[in-house]
Amino acid sequence: MLISFDCPKCLKMTRGEDASQVVHCKSCGWTRQTTSNSAKDESLCSCLVCGCNDLWRQKDFDQRLGVLIVGIGILLSTVAVAYMMPGVAMIILMVFGMADWVLYGILPDRLVCYRCHAQYRKVPNLEKTGVFDLEVNERYRQEAIRLKQKETSSPS
Ligand SMILES: [Zn+2]
Ligand SMILES: [Zn+2]
Repeated sequence: MLISFDCPKCLKMTRGEDASQVVHCKSCGWTRQTTSNSAKDESLCSCLVCGCNDLWRQKDFDQRLGVLIVGIGILLSTVAVAYMMPGVAMIILMVFGMADWVLYGILPDRLVCYRCHAQYRKVPNLEKTGVFDLEVNERYRQEAIRLKQKETSSPS
């Protein structure tokens, strides 16, 4: 299992680290032991960075890449239309649309933590985890805002 996360200590991003035994920050050396029940062939039930029990599943798909593919398709089809070839334009659009769709289908899922947004790749049995829930996300967003207010308003 690979993890990408923002370090709770130095706030720097660590990408694609193996997290089967320990979560380790490359920048400052922060570590957190991963408990036995959240490792190995069991799916992930709590975040290894913050311990949060709510995770959501999404496609490990770079949105920019998807937009780029569709963009190139539209550009090429526009050129075809300009050269009076509407049939070719249709085919180009269809091919690029298909490519986008096929790519989306073959790409694996990843898990994301609602609270700290750590991302987990190559998680076994992650189908059990639900997809993004706006309500849960809102709860964590509110919690984060409250925590921030507490920090700023607390007397020293
Ligand atoms: Zn760090
Ligand atoms: Zn987390």
